[in-house]
Amino acid sequence: MKVIFLGVGEACDEDMPNNSHLIVSDTVLLLDCGYSVPGQLWKYNPDHAFLDAIYISHRHADHYFGIPALLVRMWEEKRTKPLTFICPGGLKEVIGELIEYGYKTLTDKFEFEIYFKEAEKRQSIMFNELNLKFAPTIHSVENFAIKVSDGRNTVCFSGDGMFNGETEKLYRDSDLVIHESYSLDQRIPGHACITDLLHMAQRNHIKCLALTHLQRDLRKHEIGHIEHKISQKKLKIIIPEPFEEYSF
Ligand SMILES: [Zn+2]
Ligand SMILES: [Zn+2]
Repeated sequence: MKVIFLGVGEACDEDMPNNSHLIVSDTVLLLDCGYSVPGQLWKYNPDHAFLDAIYISHRHADHYFGIPALLVRMWEEKRTKPLTFICPGGLKEVIGELIEYGYKTLTDKFEFEIYFKEAEKRQSIMFNELNLKFAPTIHSVENFAIKVSDGRNTVCFSGDGMFNGETEKLYRDSDLVIHESYSLDQRIPGHACITDLLHMAQRNHIKCLALTHLQRDLRKHEIGHIEHKISQKKLKIIIPEPFEEYSF
């Protein structure tokens, strides 16, 4: 299994594409698909059949507004391989409406099937060889963090939101946790701060913590300070750049 950090930015960052990552195993899974993600994916791999599934963590534009563009190109390029959306319960309709709003009647023209797997918290879903588990975070809309395991390695992705007891349990002992890190030490409702994340990673024996979705000014002006702060820790912590890869 390897992970490609396609985009690492928050919603309004002019430099960094939206927070989105690829899990490449025998199955290829895209984690979130914000409005600036399709271009990143096509630059990484333009093959219309590359993706098997897309996970959407929650209904904010920087996490799912890229779907219509992604699908219209699949249609143009005559994809026939089925595509599966995995999302928290209730998002199936929202995603369907977004596609219809973006490109009316597009779904009628597809030569490929679209399937939905709606997740509930504490439930496990098998998708091909991948075992998927979910836990809610504290965010302004319902957001599910996801844990992806191929039997050898385990990767978690927060989507957006502050962790709680349930999310910590999901993250425990993982090989890689990709977490939104909106602020340094200020507690902003519905988001996680780096100081809290460092403690959380330590007490849950996380092998590597990837900090993404940093507030744009923080990333621009305080990256040196943050890198110094995390270098003091015994934990492995990275602040990935777009297209950086993490292999196990
Ligand atoms: Zn976001
Ligand atoms: Zn959000």
